[in-house]
Amino acid sequence: MPVSIYDSIQFLKGVGPKRSKSFQALGINTIEDLLYYFPRRYQDWRDLRPISDLKEGDAATVKGKVCAVSGRTSWQRRGFNILEARIEDSTGRIRAVWFNQPYLKDYLKTGVSLVLHGKIEKYGHILQLASPEFEMITDEEEALSRGSILPVYPLSDKFSQRYFRKIIGSALDEFITRLKDPLPYDVRKRNSLLNSAQGLINIHFPRSDELQKEAYRRLSFEDFFLFEVPIIMKKASRPRRKAVRHNAGSPLLNDFIGSLSFRFTASQTQVLNEILADMSSDKIMQRLIQGDVGCGKTVVALCASLAAIDSGWQTAFMVPTEILARQHYAVISGFLDGLSRPGPKSKKLKIGLMTGALSAKSRREAVKQIKDGKVDLTIGTHSLIERDVVFERLGLIVIDEQHKFGVAQRKLLSEKNRSADTLIMTATPIPRTLAITLYGNLDISAISELPPGRGRIQTRHFAEGMRRQAYGLIKEELAKKRQAYIIYPIIDESYALDLNAAEKMFKQLSGVEFKDYRLGLIHGRIKQEQQNKTMEKFKAGEIDILVATSVLEVGIDVPDATVMLIEHCDRFGLSQLHQLRGRIGRSGYDSICLLMGEPKTEEARRRIDAIVNNIDGFKIAEEDLKIRGPGEFFGSRQHGLSELRIGNPLTQLHILKSARDEAARLIEADPELNLRQDQDLKAALERRYPGYREKQVVG
Ligand code: ADP
Ligand code: MG
Repeated sequence: MPVSIYDSIQFLKGVGPKRSKSFQALGINTIEDLLYYFPRRYQDWRDLRPISDLKEGDAATVKGKVCAVSGRTSWQRRGFNILEARIEDSTGRIRAVWFNQPYLKDYLKTGVSLVLHGKIEKYGHILQLASPEFEMITDEEEALSRGSILPVYPLSDKFSQRYFRKIIGSALDEFITRLKDPLPYDVRKRNSLLNSAQGLINIHFPRSDELQKEAYRRLSFEDFFLFEVPIIMKKASRPRRKAVRHNAGSPLLNDFIGSLSFRFTASQTQVLNEILADMSSDKIMQRLIQGDVGCGKTVVALCASLAAIDSGWQTAFMVPTEILARQHYAVISGFLDGLSRPGPKSKKLKIGLMTGALSAKSRREAVKQIKDGKVDLTIGTHSLIERDVVFERLGLIVIDEQHKFGVAQRKLLSEKNRSADTLIMTATPIPRTLAITLYGNLDISAISELPPGRGRIQTRHFAEGMRRQAYGLIKEELAKKRQAYIIYPIIDESYALDLNAAEKMFKQLSGVEFKDYRLGLIHGRIKQEQQNKTMEKFKAGEIDILVATSVLEVGIDVPDATVMLIEHCDRFGLSQLHQLRGRIGRSGYDSICLLMGEPKTEEARRRIDAIVNNIDGFKIAEEDLKIRGPGEFFGSRQHGLSELRIGNPLTQLHILKSARDEAARLIEADPELNLRQDQDLKAALERRYPGYREKQVVG
């Protein structure tokens, strides 16, 4: 049997079973995977520069011979190694240096020819290349036979660029004519895209800059298209008629809104109307509400719940932590006190709580009430998704702080009643244009303003030496009868060392620095009951300073807390910092967020700059995306986007949009991908996203 492009990489000439292990480590299993393993950048041999032409500040590529090499250890810093070489071409000589890479000596031998690329610096009076990348020229003709723009791949030390280029080159030669194009001809034509063979050839060995750009566009389009098709198929196959229908004009809801001490913001009203329109339509609602921390999502979700209850349905309201479940329960009970369902047999609304900390007896009782339809609204944690929780008539599912749940957990809750409406809320918003494209199977609403009259939040970063001043600022707030949070990072709540550090810090703070104040401590290892008590005391103003781990990250609402100190801020992610900071600034008072901790990496420094300089959650999400890149950003959200191989949704938003439009057009014409011209696409989808028809692709 001849080898096919979908066969294991080991059948490719020059690979074999042993080497194929190193390919697998790079995620390359088949020959197709190899062709879709893209260069990180290119080495452009067309602009080789004569050494005599170089100037300080240039980024230049030169070709020359090594005429001297020496390595030494710095006398100023022990263990610091400097390797120095002289490179010569027919026009002159230049010095090149590398730091702490003594092994390079094995490659940089006198007489060897190299191409080097790097920045030209001044070193005393002479010019030098500082830590340039280089490539040995052992067989120049071979290297250049495919053109003079050479690919540079992200490789492990098991591979040389030279070997990898050769393998890719021979895979292209042998298989390119047998490649099936996943993009239907019409789609390519309408968008003037290269075919896949031209795309792959020119991404690896571009014949010109223009062709490289076209190849990049073509392959990114393909990436986005394959990503969007399953999402749009899902959306198209959502059942249209539903068993659950709610009344938009709910008297209970109107009473509730009338009883509030504040007025809805314009965007809260708009979003609520969008929700009610969905709920009263015959389409199943799957709506995502984006809105920054503190914009008032909870109360909007509560309105939706009341509309459902008024129409005779039960609501399940799922939140990520026990503390938040209790807070919602208390707040909602307070809101609803005195409200009762209108009508002839007017009766009080029944609200239930379902969390992991319930005693076996209370849990059994709660499960029974849910099953018998005795409770209208149940607020709970993951406990809600357990198998024994069965609703008599579940009509609305609310998922608060969705980013804290996995896709599987959300799905399990949906399965309690597939025709119930679903409302998903997130406080880590992404730009709307991106959201529409990415969460393609959800409808999206955004609450774009905060309630009026909120105080300002100032954010400051302190060096360790300035700790006293930071403590001073906390005391100033406490003197005004306000409350404070001190947040300690716990990467893993079960990691004893981290908890010890938090406990030690708590003892120290309460024994020394803040001995005249009332302190409380909350972390994952403290008994839930104890945590709940501490939280209640803090809310009641009986505790001045709450020392806590990031269990407080989401949802908590204590308006009098106006100062937060975050220890080791460099250890938190950007959106986590933003969520934490969202615990203050929830009233008319000005608030202050103090960050302690030294950034040890460039990324950490950028995160801290971003949080100090931005208050808007949408901006922060954008910064986070920029700092981490789409793979990391979406990867952590279990999103299919981490499967993208070349497309970048941030920088190629317009391509993403066209790909999505084309995907919609295609699914409209061929909802099940049964047409003959769509078979190559169908096969490509099965390879890229195995089982994509069953999987839920919600972000
Ligand atoms: P989040 O969007 O972070 O979930 P919440 O729903 O917790 O925000 O609301 C934050 C605080 O603002 C709560 O105390 C809530 O009662 C209050 N709130 C909500 N909407 C308004 C409004 N329109 N005007 C004034 N306060 C509001
Ligand atoms: Mg909330």
